[in-house]
Amino acid sequence: MIGVVAATATGRAAAATLAAAWPDEVRLLTGQKAADALREAWRTCDAVVSFLAVGATVRVLAPLLGNKTTDPAVVCVDESMAFAVAVLGGHHGANLLAHRLTGVLGCTPVVTTASDQSNVTPLDSYGADLGFTVHNPELLAHVGAAVLSGEPVRLDGAAGWPLPPLPPNVSPEAPGEGHRIIVTDEAERDCMCHDGRFEGALVYRPKSLVVGVGSARGVTAGEVAGLVDEALAAGCLAAESVRCLATADLKADEEGILQVARERGWDVVTHPAEQLSSVEVPNPSEVVRAEVGTPSVAEAAALLSAGPRAELVVEKRKSANATVAVARLAPRGRLSIVGLGPGARDLVTPRAIAALRRAAVVVGLDQYVEQVRDLIRPGTRVITSGLGQEEERARTAVEEASAGHAVALVGSGDAGVYAMASPALEFADAGIDVEGVPGITAATAASNLLGAPLGHDHAYISLSDLHTPWEAIERRVTAAAEGDFTVCFYNPRSRTRDWQLPKALSILAAHRPPDTPVGYVRNATRPDETVTLTTLAELDPARVDMFTVVVVGSSRSRTVAGRFVTPRGYRWA
Ligand code: SAH
Repeated sequence: MIGVVAATATGRAAAATLAAAWPDEVRLLTGQKAADALREAWRTCDAVVSFLAVGATVRVLAPLLGNKTTDPAVVCVDESMAFAVAVLGGHHGANLLAHRLTGVLGCTPVVTTASDQSNVTPLDSYGADLGFTVHNPELLAHVGAAVLSGEPVRLDGAAGWPLPPLPPNVSPEAPGEGHRIIVTDEAERDCMCHDGRFEGALVYRPKSLVVGVGSARGVTAGEVAGLVDEALAAGCLAAESVRCLATADLKADEEGILQVARERGWDVVTHPAEQLSSVEVPNPSEVVRAEVGTPSVAEAAALLSAGPRAELVVEKRKSANATVAVARLAPRGRLSIVGLGPGARDLVTPRAIAALRRAAVVVGLDQYVEQVRDLIRPGTRVITSGLGQEEERARTAVEEASAGHAVALVGSGDAGVYAMASPALEFADAGIDVEGVPGITAATAASNLLGAPLGHDHAYISLSDLHTPWEAIERRVTAAAEGDFTVCFYNPRSRTRDWQLPKALSILAAHRPPDTPVGYVRNATRPDETVTLTTLAELDPARVDMFTVVVVGSSRSRTVAGRFVTPRGYRWA
């Protein structure tokens, strides 16, 4: 029972609206002095909606406060209906009530129990980028409120789809009697198999079905539509989950098929007969082969369009002039390889932030993941490891994506520059989707601090000989020296690798003047950033470590007003 208290005409009107919306739950206490009404509501109801100021409400209730598990939940709504503030008992009904109030009064819920509330994946766009649609959006507000309030919400059918994370209270292990979210292409019907199974659950429709269609020339749209509906019904499948109609190239202009696709908003995908004939199907027909050059159109086109690991969920059904079959596709996991930039938060791109928030699994070096921990949504599985375990990290990320998850593999700078992208893509097969999110690499972060050293041709060279023989590195340094490239040295020097940088510099010095500018930046864009501009002759390698990138100018580079500049064009003498 929700006791509703108001003191003003506006408040009373809103209270009446609530009573009309939730007639079985609301008890109006608007006919008496507000303070008395509040006290009575507190005594007799499970929850209180107060159309009084938070301060006024708190002053009246303060002497009555007991235990948060037994006290009623209290939500205050302001006079302009802008906000529903969960004041007391957030996790005991107030957060949920604040969200429910928004559905009726249009106010914004204000919830203060957990800092990460606003960071939770919103249910109204859950899976939208995968093509998911919400079957019963009227349940969104209610189930969404339960998700945000930390109440248990059972999640079924999501496995295998690379969905964003939901907080830990949403899980397949939550009790089935409470709130439920179901991802399914199965239709709810009065058939034996799904009797009442989805009742009360928020249902998402994945785009998981492909309807294969074959037909005689001149088939009517009515006949095709009838057979499609019959096939879907036979499989207890939802039309909302149909991704496309698939058929043979020969049927690309078959008006009956095209019209059904138009009317239902489905794409039409066609395949050449010889491709269709290579698909193994349960019901091939020699008659069909003689006519169109493939023993199967409907089954083969459905399976082919649905891609690898598809399953035929409705075998070929026939009407006088058409055939229809339905295949279910196997969803693909996705791997985002995300560069976090050199360090500064405002150099993390918006796209990288979106990719982090989209991922249900984040894999990375512990120190990088810590940098962006606040951007990661609640419920995200975070897998970190220490320095030097690149290969293991890459393998883990790919395995998680192959298992169907949405994975972000994060790295500093650009994750493709001397970093995780290559080992990951060496492991990854074609069964997952891969997206790279570029980051600002150390060389450009440093060059912008130094001036404009990369204004002309330049080379990146890593001086780490842990995975590359020194001879190969030296050959490249020599080539860069002879080619007069500006050179950016990554991994220039560590405690155990101290002779490589002086050696590389001496090779360059043989080809360019001693006053060639050399800039080095330690911890570019991080709090302890240091920027040093010197010359080839004067550089002290001992000042350089593995947090530093070193930029050596070409023979044309100059220092102008204390800034390192490589001219855009060279006038060759
Ligand atoms: N993927 C990273 C590079 C990884 S290799 C990128 O794109 O930046 C590691 C080397 O990068 C370090 O040894 C150092 O030379 C350089 N580096 C990375 N971040 C840096 C920073 N913020 N400041 C200076 N050098 C950096």
